Amino acid sequence: RRIGFPWSPPLVRRTLLEVSGTILTAQLAVEFGLACNLGGGTHHAHWDWGSGFTIFNDLAVAAKVIQQQKRANKILIVDLDVHQGDGTAALFANDPSVFTLSFHCEKNFPFRKQKSDLDVSFAAGTGDEQFLDTLRRVLPSLLSSERPDLVLYDAGVDVWAGDKLGELQISERGLADRDRFVIETCMDAHVPVACVIGGGYDDDRHKLAARHAIVHKVASSVWVEREPWKAFGHKRHELRHSEAAHV
Ligand SMILES: [Zn+2]
Repeated sequence: RRIGFPWSPPLVRRTLLEVSGTILTAQLAVEFGLACNLGGGTHHAHWDWGSGFTIFNDLAVAAKVIQQQKRANKILIVDLDVHQGDGTAALFANDPSVFTLSFHCEKNFPFRKQKSDLDVSFAAGTGDEQFLDTLRRVLPSLLSSERPDLVLYDAGVDVWAGDKLGELQISERGLADRDRFVIETCMDAHVPVACVIGGGYDDDRHKLAARHAIVHKVASSVWVEREPWKAFGHKRHELRHSEAAHV
């Protein structure tokens, strides 16, 4: 009941695919500079219990797998979904190798918030200007102070003004500006970024899918403009070299 979904075999399959998809996305991002999952962002799941439509925390699993594979040491999780990434915050509360940033609406679930490394809580009704100004102030300085090897970006679209659950007032243009800012700022700082779609709630699934696809459209345009795979190519080479050295 806490998870919010009835158990079924397709749910198990979906959950496992979602987590593996985020691991693969993070691996591809480290190798090519930028990658997106078509799912992911199950940020309410804790160590031993699921919550809020999320069963396993894909962001946490991907961060630990990437670290264990020695593809990255320091990881920054940028969670801009309307709901606080409470599971992620709790899982990494005592882990300085993963920095958790959560933007969310104070009025939305979870009602008992956890403590992220940095929480930015907005009042219901906050619009593009305040949200984006805050993001422009916070993200570049975090990238320079934390110096992550990888950013995991939760691009939840439930911050959108018409979302069924979200209480913020971000426009579709604001979603695209937000996604572009996150991805370009990471590219500028030479930090690979792996994007997941996060939450979004709408009775019209086609419109919802189109809204989730904004991050993919933005990423594909940045991919063409910036050609990140070239800049990250030497890392790819080093990785292969060190893998070969281990064999
Ligand atoms: Zn959400």
